[in-house]
Amino acid sequence: MPKFRFKALEDVLAREPKEVVYPSDRVSDYYATNVFSQETMRAYLPDEAYKSVISSINEGTRLERSMANQVASSMKDWSLTKGATHYTHWFQPLTGATAEKHDSFFTPISGGRAIEKFDGENLVQQEPDASSFPNGGIRNTFEARGYTAWDPTSPAFVIGKTLCIPTVFIAYTGESLDYKMPLLKALNAVDKAATSVCQYFDKDITKVNASLGWEQEYFLVDKALYNARPDIMMTGRALVGHSPAKGQQLDDHYFGSIPERAVAFMKEYEIEALQLGIPVTTRHNEVAPNQFECAPMYEETNLANDHNLLLMDLMEKVARKHDFRILYHEKPFGGLNGSGKHNNWSLSTNTGVNLLAPGKNPKTNLRFLTFFVNTIKAIYDNADVLRASIASAGNDHRLGANEAPPAIMSVFIGSQLTQMLDNLEKSVKAGKMTPEDKTELKLSIGKIPQILLDNTDRNRTSPFAFTGNKFEFRAVGSTANCANSMIALNVIVAKQLNDFKKAVDLRIGSGLKKDEAILQELQKLIKESKAIRFEGNGYGDDWVKEAAKRGLSNLRDTPRALKVMTQKSTKKLYADLEVLSEIEIDARYEIELENYILKLQIESRTLGDIAQNHVIPAGIKYQNILIENVKGFYDVFGKSTAAKMAETQVQMLEELAGHINGIREKSQKMLDERKKANKIEGSEKKALAYCDKVKPYFDEVKYHSDKLELLIDDEMWPLPKLRELLFTR
Ligand code: ADP
Ligand code: MG
Repeated sequence: MPKFRFKALEDVLAREPKEVVYPSDRVSDYYATNVFSQETMRAYLPDEAYKSVISSINEGTRLERSMANQVASSMKDWSLTKGATHYTHWFQPLTGATAEKHDSFFTPISGGRAIEKFDGENLVQQEPDASSFPNGGIRNTFEARGYTAWDPTSPAFVIGKTLCIPTVFIAYTGESLDYKMPLLKALNAVDKAATSVCQYFDKDITKVNASLGWEQEYFLVDKALYNARPDIMMTGRALVGHSPAKGQQLDDHYFGSIPERAVAFMKEYEIEALQLGIPVTTRHNEVAPNQFECAPMYEETNLANDHNLLLMDLMEKVARKHDFRILYHEKPFGGLNGSGKHNNWSLSTNTGVNLLAPGKNPKTNLRFLTFFVNTIKAIYDNADVLRASIASAGNDHRLGANEAPPAIMSVFIGSQLTQMLDNLEKSVKAGKMTPEDKTELKLSIGKIPQILLDNTDRNRTSPFAFTGNKFEFRAVGSTANCANSMIALNVIVAKQLNDFKKAVDLRIGSGLKKDEAILQELQKLIKESKAIRFEGNGYGDDWVKEAAKRGLSNLRDTPRALKVMTQKSTKKLYADLEVLSEIEIDARYEIELENYILKLQIESRTLGDIAQNHVIPAGIKYQNILIENVKGFYDVFGKSTAAKMAETQVQMLEELAGHINGIREKSQKMLDERKKANKIEGSEKKALAYCDKVKPYFDEVKYHSDKLELLIDDEMWPLPKLRELLFTR
């Protein structure tokens, strides 16, 4: 084996893929076996209790105490057969991760004996020590009381020895402190609004579900290399490191064969995911070196989101077993593809219809156009709200950078639907329509089905693209809780559909036929929202100029993107639909800013440490070697000859000194700015100071560090290089 500058590199190369044992040859044998599914409930619950749970799932009715006791008892019995000893309320605090508080089933009883106990009270409500979760000022820590409450729409599951119960997390004063509660409310709002609009087309439609199909991107790095990179350990991304000579310039297809160790990791997390009822279909995809993607089947949004969070946790654990560390950061490596989490979104009805799929005849196509056009109008009116929902310190590296959708919100629909909308814009006549007008319109509307699927999804540069039977929100960051973007999207669509219903009813009230009223309102919306539609290259500089001309926002960083949360109109939007109150929005604004500040503060500190403790000492050591070398020349050859012979070394010494001084000076300035920023009162100003004054030094420090990396003897560089992190397999 060749000698490596790191023992760690040898370790990495010596690793073998771990063996994966399948529980059975057939997935159907183990699919959802760790889930307290409706089917399991039917087997375990008395009829009456089963019916009341189902009605609380479907209609949101309250579960009576006696029923809750029965559900709890059977849930416990079932989980004991799975080896569970503890239970936990599983919830989604505003930190972005999930949280759990474990309690034992075990209860001592008289006579020195013990029983396994879990009743309705334990199931329905719990009081975790909430003081350590962010609340944006809603609760003062001394009255830190919040509670978690069961969400029966998402099934309980067993992981390891723990029964996990999905819950919402609420302050005692009623405000939500998590992502799930407002998501459920937003889904309810869009259900009501869409169902009401559906009445124009089909009276049998009584429920509309928003569906979510997420695609999760991530990087894998070996644990030995990970542990040798303080920046990646502390911040999830490489703060320094020269781009490898080979990045992803080569064709996409180059990254086709997934390393065996990664395959073993994927197989194992898939087995566990399937047991938890997460519908991962085997789809392995390498996107960039050591970057992969996982995309399960889409599901109802609340469930899909729980599954995303669950799987993220699971993948992290399984990665460790395989001696990997998983990086969910949006931009772990500069100069390389970032990671996103595409949110595929559509609306489907209790009658089995996807409202964003074009139909087979003019009537169903009019329904399609209604939901299609209203979604576009919602994005146009609320682009900033949507932008805020995906803002984070990590995603700032992606949005507006060259390999990710831009920070400008726009909608891509493909040339043929563009033509269709242009056509409607021109040809719908005001007032009552003649039979000829109607026939002509019907003909053109009837043409939609053939054109799709093949002609959409060609544009990969759009943040929000129509892809045949769904919209794909591509600007979501890979670490994000999808709830954030899904709350925003479903709320703005709900609001738009409510407005649409009112407007169409007014038109009908003034004597128009239903179809005429709908078409004329759609025509109005098409005209009004035209500026948000963009079919060109979203990564080009031209688009930035063009978007500015169109009056579209280009909010490039988190503090500025979040600002819309302070606007009256935003608060009204969320409050009117009863999704978030003004207090809740204020709290969330505060929490997101704090989060942003904290992230940048940690990055800045870590970068300072790396510069001072790793990079500068390496530079000095190498300088000493060169100095010795030059001295030797002078000793052996005398001044005039030595000066000539050691010309390169002297030049290198000068360069080294330049970059060592440079990195020292810039990190010092970064430190000064950080100190100033830390003294600022008020999160908004502080976040802006971090963004505008501290962050710009990150690139400057990195610049000098990367130059030093290129200058210094490979054996002396103290950190794993990007090429080692990405290509050692
Ligand atoms: P890519 O974007 O990588 O080309 P696809 O277009 O195949 O991949 O993405 C398909 C994704 O869209 C899958 O995750 C799938 O679950 C999801 N999806 C498909 N239909 C729907 C739908 N009606 N609603 C929501 N998501 C959907
Ligand atoms: Mg996609």
